[in-house]
Amino acid sequence: MPILSINPVTGQIFDSFPLWSDETIDSTLSRVVTAYAYWSALDIEQRAVYMHNLAQVLRQRRDDYAQLITEEMGKLLKEARAEIDKCALGCEHYAGHAKTYLAEEIIDSDASRSGVIYQPLGTLLCIMPWNFPFWQLIRAAVPAMMAGNTVVLKHASNVPRCALALEEAFREAGFPENAFRTLMISATQAEKVIADPRIAAVTLTGSSAAGRKVAAIAGQHLKKCVLELGGSDPFIVLEDADLEFTVSQAVSARFQNMGQSCIAAKRFILVEGIADLFLEHFKTLVSQLRMGDPKDESTTIAPMARVDLRDALHAQIERSLAMGAILVAGGETIGTQGAYYAPTILDRVYPGMPAFDEELFGPVAAIVRVRNTEEAIQLANQTPFGLGGSVWTRNIAHGEAITRRLLVGAAFVNGIVKSDPRLPFGGIKASGFGRELSYHGIREFVNIKTIWVG
Ligand code: NDP
Repeated sequence: MPILSINPVTGQIFDSFPLWSDETIDSTLSRVVTAYAYWSALDIEQRAVYMHNLAQVLRQRRDDYAQLITEEMGKLLKEARAEIDKCALGCEHYAGHAKTYLAEEIIDSDASRSGVIYQPLGTLLCIMPWNFPFWQLIRAAVPAMMAGNTVVLKHASNVPRCALALEEAFREAGFPENAFRTLMISATQAEKVIADPRIAAVTLTGSSAAGRKVAAIAGQHLKKCVLELGGSDPFIVLEDADLEFTVSQAVSARFQNMGQSCIAAKRFILVEGIADLFLEHFKTLVSQLRMGDPKDESTTIAPMARVDLRDALHAQIERSLAMGAILVAGGETIGTQGAYYAPTILDRVYPGMPAFDEELFGPVAAIVRVRNTEEAIQLANQTPFGLGGSVWTRNIAHGEAITRRLLVGAAFVNGIVKSDPRLPFGGIKASGFGRELSYHGIREFVNIKTIWVG
């Protein structure tokens, strides 16, 4: 099967790319290993110059890249532009901070001088998803490359043109040849690449199912891996929340990127005293969302990325309804072409239902009603996932105390869970392990080497 680029608005095929042969994979990996010798020997300041160039290329080509993202996976054009802006910022962040993040440390011991230095590992395989086709790769590859590693990308099969555009961006930024390469390969071929001795480590962003497979192969070959997997983030609303603000944020938290984000709010856990009012306002705002062409600036609801993902989401909703959830809005596919799905609200969602226990990777808000704050925390943590979570209350100290009890990698008070290059990003439990971004992220794919001088 070739790799197909399909328009999620119409279902039409834009382009088709043959999968690489074993010989092409082999020769490309050899070239990337050769490039590693040169790239890793550069000073970090020299690598920073390339990374600043990449930021510039992303800014210059912003509209082209945004258009490509929208055409391939369907997100709103304005969201695609914001994604490219964030990529440029991510490049600049690491260009400016990598040296400090990886500065040698002197640590007192029984030596006359001892401490830690950070050295690259080799070539990193980045296996990436389609939901933020540029940002996910930039977030993983840029710190790893600033540390001196070279990178090969296996992108999701539905975004091949984005995958090639990323390679082109590195080339336009003047990076040494083969320091970054896109491999046009299937998931099965990627499993072999993980095992290849020329690959030092692997990072995956995607489903927990893919994470389990990738981690198993990486484990078998004793290779470092970082997994950024799915989530079912709780959005806890307490009785004293600022209702208008909280509801407007709830709509963004659930429906931006058509709900296809690992850190989207998925379970809205509402304390009794505010639940009815919240739902009433939430329903009103959701009914104002405007479905249409993602390139049209007035559209607020785009198609989902793929028809199969849309159908899988619909099946999760149907199963939840069969178990007693109440349909407040949506719950249906829209139109006869493309991957559109109506913004959906399910009320009275409880543990045991797919809408509670599984990740809903699309425009579906699950409303969970609780009696009090304690029950809210308990249900927030009653999930296989542990990526992010938010608490909404006017009592900041109380909100912060609750964040400390959430079993997640990132907990926010009165703010939507988001990634920021300055702060670490990642999860626990079925949401994965390891961290991206900040100095924690850049230290994932390095040899943390102790130096001891007697
Ligand atoms: P997958 O997790 O299957 O795909 C993510 C990436 O992993 C893709 O590049 C995929 O390649 C690759 N991959 C999958 N299986 C393997 C494997 N065994 N070995 C190596 N690479 C592999 O996501 P889907 O696109 O199928 O989406 C399914 C669900 O995953 C979503 O509904 C959502 O729940 C979750 N998801 C989570 C994301 C997140 O940000 N955490 C992002 C995307 C999806 P290929 O495309 O060729 O299969």
